[in-house]
Amino acid sequence: MRITKPVWDSEFRCLASACPDTCCALWEIPVDEDSAARLRAMDGALGARLREALVQVDGEWQFARKDGRCVMLNAENLCDLYAQCGEGSLCRTCHLHPRFVEQYGGRREVMAGLSCPAWIESYLRRTEPVAFVTEETDEPICDYTDIDAALFFRLLKARETAIAIAQTRALSIRERLEQLLALGEELGGAEGECRQQRVLPTYLSKLRSLEILMPQWRAALHPSTPVGAVSPLYLEKVLVYDLFRFFLKGVYDGRVLPWIKLTVFHALVLCAIAGGKSECEQAELIRLYSKEIEHNAENLASLHRAFLRRSGRYSADGLRKAIEEVL
Ligand code: SF4
Repeated sequence: MRITKPVWDSEFRCLASACPDTCCALWEIPVDEDSAARLRAMDGALGARLREALVQVDGEWQFARKDGRCVMLNAENLCDLYAQCGEGSLCRTCHLHPRFVEQYGGRREVMAGLSCPAWIESYLRRTEPVAFVTEETDEPICDYTDIDAALFFRLLKARETAIAIAQTRALSIRERLEQLLALGEELGGAEGECRQQRVLPTYLSKLRSLEILMPQWRAALHPSTPVGAVSPLYLEKVLVYDLFRFFLKGVYDGRVLPWIKLTVFHALVLCAIAGGKSECEQAELIRLYSKEIEHNAENLASLHRAFLRRSGRYSADGLRKAIEEVL
């Protein structure tokens, strides 16, 4: 198995009870069939508690939540299953989190999510460009996904170009966004025109129409301060993160441009809602976007559907208008 991840991945450490958030609240925690069967068969008081904690929703197992929190979390924000039986006892979701995993054929890509306070802090703080490493492991390939290999290698090469654009510091953020859109159109074909004059208000209203978990995110989507600067380093890191996370998904339908547009959209929305705020507030808004959009499959799918449109506000031309509005 070939596994690609950022070179800093091994430095990640969960903050455990010191985490100002927790990944075991607000989200659904799906539990794979094998883990559900194993956990439900456990003995003693913990086994009884797990049998109560594991519930079926629409035929899928998940951990029940109380007040939004996983019922296995204790008052110190620590998982009682982990505390009593160790990491090996966790289901697949909890074992992987906060890392996301993308499987392309026999290759796997892994990175911790920006929703995690521990990861985002170290990821944004570093000033050197993000580098990735690919390792061969002895792990057998058991979750092989069927993809068009020729297209995959074309996209892999194109993603290298896209990440290089995102990290070219001789270019302004505006120039990098424009070059990413140009690369997207080179790969996906030129798009139609956007006749509307103002685009950004539509983008914010689209985000307000999606499912919202946290009141801070709802408030952020009504920016009252004038548009100001967002740290170019933070925007660069967000672009690289999104390109790594989403670009290769184009292999499934041959359409990579909607994912590039979503990446540019992400940066522009941050400029609109985080402009002029302190770096600490900017980092928190980047974290909230990840939590509310990237980790919510329906929200992400809704935005992706919007960016499948090839003219109007969600076209590459629409994004160029939005660039004019915020940068
Ligand atoms: S969000 Fe990150 S730091 Fe917090 S509990 Fe989860 S993995 Fe640990």
